[in-house]
Amino acid sequence: MGNFIQLKGIPAAPGIVIGTAYIFGKQELHAVKRPIKESDIPFEIARFEEALIETRKQIILIQKKIARDMGSVGSEIFDAHLLVLEDRMLIDEVISRLKKEKLCVEYVFTEALEKYVKVFSKIEDEYLRERVSDINDIARRIIHNLLGKKQKSLSDLDEPVIVVAHDLSPSDTAAMQKKHVVAIATDIGGRTSHTAILAKSLEIPAVVGLEQATLTIRNDDKLIVDGAEGIVIVNPNKDQIAKYTMEKEKIFQRSTTVQELRDFPAVTLDGKKIVLAANIELPEEVDSVIAHGGEGVGLYRTEFFYMNRKDLPSEEEHYKRYRAVAEKVSPHPVIVRTLDLGGDKFLSALNIPREMTPFLGWRAIRFCLAQPQIFKVQLRAILRASAHGNLNLMYPMISGIEELKQANKLLDECKLELKKQKIPFDKDIAVGAMIEVPSAALTCDILAKEVSFFSIGTNDLIQYSLAVDRSNEKVAYLYEPTHPAVLRLIKTIIDAGHKANIWVGMCGEMAAEPALVILLLGMGLDEFSVSTVAISEVKKIIRSINYKQAKEIAAKAMSLSSAKEVEEFSKLRLKELLKT
Ligand code: PEP
Ligand code: MG
Repeated sequence: MGNFIQLKGIPAAPGIVIGTAYIFGKQELHAVKRPIKESDIPFEIARFEEALIETRKQIILIQKKIARDMGSVGSEIFDAHLLVLEDRMLIDEVISRLKKEKLCVEYVFTEALEKYVKVFSKIEDEYLRERVSDINDIARRIIHNLLGKKQKSLSDLDEPVIVVAHDLSPSDTAAMQKKHVVAIATDIGGRTSHTAILAKSLEIPAVVGLEQATLTIRNDDKLIVDGAEGIVIVNPNKDQIAKYTMEKEKIFQRSTTVQELRDFPAVTLDGKKIVLAANIELPEEVDSVIAHGGEGVGLYRTEFFYMNRKDLPSEEEHYKRYRAVAEKVSPHPVIVRTLDLGGDKFLSALNIPREMTPFLGWRAIRFCLAQPQIFKVQLRAILRASAHGNLNLMYPMISGIEELKQANKLLDECKLELKKQKIPFDKDIAVGAMIEVPSAALTCDILAKEVSFFSIGTNDLIQYSLAVDRSNEKVAYLYEPTHPAVLRLIKTIIDAGHKANIWVGMCGEMAAEPALVILLLGMGLDEFSVSTVAISEVKKIIRSINYKQAKEIAAKAMSLSSAKEVEEFSKLRLKELLKT
């Protein structure tokens, strides 16, 4: 057995990949603890000296440029940077630790720097204390030079790599190309963080919440990523490689068997028809929806269109995009979810201040109602595109009737404008509300009067009802879809919807949990909208059960008192079901 390291994280997107690590992002200050031989010490010292010289040259160049553009006042800031480079206390500390500890210079330097920064942070003198940020800046530059690599953007990668990062924002992930990013491993994040959701949509295997990935993994390390189990093996041995290669082959064979169901409807053994649709983030995913046999798009997350660009998309751009999706998916429906900015998704074009608790803050419909000029651009475009297919829309994060009424009022204004301009749109366009806030769930009977359908957003509903941040790996163990409180809220929504004669779907990740499909079916859910990779499996389960039996299972699950009991019970039922 070799010196492999196995890391356990949170499974985010399934699939097995064996490949090479590429550390992305703020890794400059995350130097890896790499032992060196006695004979390497002079070489490491020389690397350090070269990095200092290189850094000095870079700073002087910047200083000259600033002096030219701004005069001496601006350029003097960099004198402080140059002083750090010459500080004997820091340099001597690095060299003596290098000799004593026999660890690579990046690591020793980072450690020495931490001590240095601590000393400065405690100084009473404000001017000196402020030098901490200069020190950090310069340190980043030195480590960059030590690593000798320029940071690339994820869209400029030119060979297939496994991206390892402390965190990846949804916009970083949206910029990835599948042919270059073959898997993802991150220190932080939860199962329903938008990075995890996007990875699944892009069919890039991913493990999040590994906590120590960027501390343990080095650029070019060989890795095995098992996205279904949430495992990353660093520098695997031959046996592990052989085992995972076989596992990969098995997964491939299993997926082709499930794929055979593609053209069959999602109907129970006793004839109850369910709508099985897909969630998409990018229009390019539509081909995959069709290839997997999705009956339409139950959630089109439009906010990614606003990301990775300097301006806001125009009405015409929106229109063309929605129209193309609607035409491709027709006659099946597409539900466009209006802009859900905020939470863990931020737009480059809008300078919105960071908030203390962004998931509870200026998010989604709250932002859109406050910025009607931005919102109406999207609403008009959706309406225009509705003339070219079966296009519907829904609002995210509705928390009460007032928001719903205000949003519908803006939609009516847009309809009136289009009518006046004689621009065609579907007058019967269906408008729905996402139910993802407990206050909305508990007032669904009231909300039902204003919409034609509900789509349950469990990713948020769970986080808000259990008070568990969906993207925080530290509390991921509390993020329980099977919690009785969550089940009761879901049942309340479904019953209220049916009482008002409107259909109820679910587009949160919970709808794709195999063991929970039976429960949701039995609770009366009419539509399941899941990531394309999950369609076949969900369909297989629906086609293997009687609706009557599902109702009994759901009723029993609802009578249990803890998340664990419900989870175990539903897993057992699924196992029995698939055996027969
Ligand atoms: C949800 O909250 O369940 C949902 C589908 O929306 P998002 O994941 O984009 O917040
Ligand atoms: Mg949501």
